[in-house]
Parts: sequence; structure tokens; C-alpha cells
Amino acid sequence: MTQLIAIGFWADFTHSSWPDPKELVDQNIDARERQEVADYLARGIVHEVYRGWSYCRFCDEQNGSADLSDGTYLWPEGLAHYVREHDVWLPGQFTAHVATRLADVRAAGIDEKWWTSQFSPENREKRGNPATSHH
Ligand SMILES: [Zn+2]
Repeated sequence: MTQLIAIGFWADFTHSSWPDPKELVDQNIDARERQEVADYLARGIVHEVYRGWSYCRFCDEQNGSADLSDGTYLWPEGLAHYVREHDVWLPGQFTAHVATRLADVRAAGIDEKWWTSQFSPENREKRGNPATSHH
């Protein structure tokens, strides 16, 4: 079974060793890098939705009610808000992972063959697509 690596969860009664987000504030991060990480965190796949809201530890706003994942890491939906609005920054292993994922996708070539093949005359015929059927 896949184990997602938890990140961005803050100290509470049952997890006293987890950090307070104020410990992770770093104002010396490049604005564009901060934006990329915040956008990445905002676009995760919903792993689980909770009944209650989480409240921001800085501004007390309602800040998400789900956990998100990219298939490797798992984080609370509100983590993007901490990164974007309160200068929270995350450990280098995670930010390097984000940078690598973004760079890999952006550098990748595009193979149109499979999509094209789905609409070849033979495949259209097999599906009985009305646009190419002969009756
Ligand atoms: Zn806030």
C-alpha cells in the first residue's frame, strides 16, 4: 500500500512534536518560487474531506477542510494559504520535489500519436462513429 508522506500539519494535543507554523516563517524566499509552491499545494488531489473547518493559526480564517495529495506527499488543503499569505516555507526535500515535478512536466515532449490513433478511419469504423459509417 502506498504511504503518502505527511507534510504541513501543525502541533495539536495528539501531536505535540509537530511544529507551530510560526517556526517555519521565512521571508527570504524568491516570490516566484513561493508562488509555484503555493499553486502546487492548491492543486492537489483530494484524499479525504472532513466535516469541520481548519482555522488559520495566524489570522484565524477558515482554511480548508480536506487533505490533498500529489501521490507522494499529503498535506492539509490550507497549507497553500500559509505559504502564500504568511510566508511559511517548507523543508527543502519537499520544495525540491515540487521543483523537479514542475520541471519534468514542463520539459516533457508531447506525443500526439495515441490521441490521433483513436480517430483513425479504422478506429472510427470499429466504434461505428456516424461521421464515417457507410449506411
Ligand atoms: Zn491566515
